[in-house]
Amino acid sequence: MLEKLKQKLKAVKEKLTGKLQKKKEEKIEEEKEEKTKPEPAPTPAKTTVAPPEHPSLTKVRRAIKKVTHRKLSEADVDDILWDLHVALLESDTALSVAQRIIENVKSELVGREIGLTEDTKELAERILREAVQRVLTPPCQVNLLEVIERKKREGQPAVFVFFGINGVGKTTTIAKLAKYLKDRGYRPLLAAADTFRAAGIEQLEEHAARVGVPVIKQRRGADAAAVAYDAIAHAKARGFDVVLIDTAGRMQTDVDLMEEMKKIVRVTKPDLKIFIGDALTGNDAVEQALAFEKAVGIDGTILCKMDADARGGAALSISQVTGKPILMLGTGQKYEDLVEFRPELILSALFGD
Ligand code: GDP
Ligand code: GDP
Repeated sequence: MLEKLKQKLKAVKEKLTGKLQKKKEEKIEEEKEEKTKPEPAPTPAKTTVAPPEHPSLTKVRRAIKKVTHRKLSEADVDDILWDLHVALLESDTALSVAQRIIENVKSELVGREIGLTEDTKELAERILREAVQRVLTPPCQVNLLEVIERKKREGQPAVFVFFGINGVGKTTTIAKLAKYLKDRGYRPLLAAADTFRAAGIEQLEEHAARVGVPVIKQRRGADAAAVAYDAIAHAKARGFDVVLIDTAGRMQTDVDLMEEMKKIVRVTKPDLKIFIGDALTGNDAVEQALAFEKAVGIDGTILCKMDADARGGAALSISQVTGKPILMLGTGQKYEDLVEFRPELILSALFGD
């Protein structure tokens, strides 16, 4: 997971460490010189107009020069920031997010003076890590289990509806989530509202049978919103805790299908609208999420195929761009390969040993 980006960040980190170390060594040298240097003689006057500068003033001037020289300047770190920019864009990070990371790193570096005993390697890593951590920290929190608990207290099933384009791993992910909830003692019910493709209904049924969760379906071509509505009624009547609604995979550019999706949302009034994206598609996944956010509003994202993603752009960008958190990560093809998102998962993949 994220091997390529990790290697690129490592190169940036090493270069930054080198730079910090050089600055630190210069400072050590200066301190040594400082100790051996005699008090400066009064500056000889170049013209007869200005009186010679008082020695103590010269000392102050030198101190100021020393201090500004010891601080990292923008010019000092320009090349590092550029390397970081390239590394992030090559990893398919959204431009706005790459810029934010770079701003974070820059503001930590420019004007900084390295302590004489500071561990430069540790400092370089901390600055990069914290900059990435900031973009991974969700702008708001959504906890699936808390939503279910809240609805339970109201005597209602929670309703989650899932959107995404075909082939991203949507059906598998819904089955994984059903298993995840079942393993935690909840009773999920699936709604086969992908009524467009016959295979859509069958696929969901197959997965559902394997994880032991029932499915509400109608014939192919049925109204998707009606299927979802039926499922919710069934869940209420039979005491299911949560309804997971699978919808037809759609391109965000398909106007009819986007209308269908709006109808599903109108009819089912879901507690959560969840976008499912494929991490491997990088910035495309981010663009899709944004389109769904604009069309119906999403509450969060599940990113599939993180295990296969070497670049990491989608994971770094999606919550900043949409303003909605990553809820879960798909980390493999087995039903148990679904984990709650924590920034630490990405950070340790990027910066761990
Ligand atoms: P859908 O068309 O969006 O419903 O996609 P599917 O659920 O049928 O999944 C498409 C493919 O992606 C299948 O081969 C899944 O096994 C695979 N897949 C789904 N999630 C993951 C994941 O987290 N990691 C990996 N490596 N493969 C996944
Ligand atoms: P074709 O008739 O076999 O060419 O099917 P298309 O894929 O071109 O789709 C025809 C129309 O059906 C388009 O306007 C799509 O927006 C719409 N459509 C596609 N998928 C779905 C779906 O899952 N549900 C519904 N209700 N409409 C869909």
